[in-house]
Amino acid sequence: MKIFQWFYPTEHVTAASEITPAWLSDRGIKGVVFDIDNTVVPQDEPAGEEVAAYFRMLHEAGIKTFILSNNREPRVKAFAEAVGCAYYFRAQKPSRRGYLAAMRRMHLRRREIVVVGDQLFTDICGANRSRIRSVLVDPVEPKKDTAGVKMKRPFEKIVFRAWKKMRQKNS
Ligand SMILES: [Mg+2]
Repeated sequence: MKIFQWFYPTEHVTAASEITPAWLSDRGIKGVVFDIDNTVVPQDEPAGEEVAAYFRMLHEAGIKTFILSNNREPRVKAFAEAVGCAYYFRAQKPSRRGYLAAMRRMHLRRREIVVVGDQLFTDICGANRSRIRSVLVDPVEPKKDTAGVKMKRPFEKIVFRAWKKMRQKNS
């Protein structure tokens, strides 16, 4: 179905940690816009040492990072400070507002950025609307999804399967 394309990611990886400096430079990417909840940590959980080390590794490789979240300021601010990057809270993804702000604040062009998120209807759809490449990750801990997100997951699965089929056909 053609309407599904609004929700198709550019790529899919199992976990955000698979996105390494080498992976990014292969694609000419200089900046990464991360969702937080269920993308890098479970819903509402703080950034642990492992996550902080991952962001440090990206920064040391010269990769810019940005946090774009629909969550509230205290949560987003604390997380962004722990991993050392700028942030945008209550982004109302898939609104384009936060994506465009991220691009501006990182001083990068569309083609130099990638969006990383766990939800097709918010993170990925917003990236597509902003014409930015995206990577879908498997939710870190689906059991901790909010009630609203849990409701959307079966529909996401339908779209994800259609995306995989389309990719196989085109490969
Ligand atoms: Mg999320």
